[in-house]
Amino acid sequence: HERLSLQANKMAAIGELASGIAHEIRNPLGIIRTQSFIIRSSLDTCEPTVKSLEYIDNAVERASKTIDNLLNFSKISGETTERTNMRTFIENIVSLEREILTKRNIVMEFNCNSYTIVPINQEAMKHILINLFSNAVDALCVYDSNGKYVRNLNDSPKITVEVYINKEEPSLMINFSDNGIGMDKKYSDQIFNPFFTTKGPNKGTGLGLYIVYSEISKLNGKIWLESELDKGTTFFVSIPIKLITHEK
Ligand code: ADP
Repeated sequence: HERLSLQANKMAAIGELASGIAHEIRNPLGIIRTQSFIIRSSLDTCEPTVKSLEYIDNAVERASKTIDNLLNFSKISGETTERTNMRTFIENIVSLEREILTKRNIVMEFNCNSYTIVPINQEAMKHILINLFSNAVDALCVYDSNGKYVRNLNDSPKITVEVYINKEEPSLMINFSDNGIGMDKKYSDQIFNPFFTTKGPNKGTGLGLYIVYSEISKLNGKIWLESELDKGTTFFVSIPIKLITHEK
């Protein structure tokens, strides 16, 4: 097991630059998409050129997805904090993903005292949790080169989320684990970089953990991880909180 503590670096600047570029690229992509549509409508459906246009459309879609992620990210989460019951909050987020868990027989274990009520930035927290969640799901499954789900990696796929308050700091602690594929040590200091992905061009964008990292940094929090190849991964998140309203 490897425990890594991660320091703030130039990511915020890279993020700003990236979202600037994203804006610039959006228009030309729109033109390519429209022109491809126009060409396609003038062709017979069985012409080989139609296949080429499909490749173009797919590539445009993929680029658009990356750009949407970047732009969404650059405008997210203001400063507002709201008193939040963490148990209900996380349960609501997970319930949006219930279908994928059921379909793939993934067990979700959730450990959180129902009195854990803390002031948090709900938007930021949502981005953090959704990205950790979707990575955990990916780590439990095998995909083909087109990014389509093939099967589960092991017989008892499981995601565990543990939430508690560290009274000494004081901070909100979230431990997010999966018993999936784990990571090679050599990647563990790159995974938070924008566009770093090991999932291949049709599955990953490499923005998930970058968003997680940046959101946590904005909240003055920390993220680190333990991972073992073929055993699984745990992300540890610690976010300072101002007051503890009520805790059992
Ligand atoms: P993406 O999911 O699009 O690849 P991320 O930034 O979310 O982008 O993740 C970057 C990389 O970190 C992934 O490609 C994967 O190699 C690794 N990773 C993230 N979460 C996990 C996990 N729970 N288990 C194993 N590897 C992970």
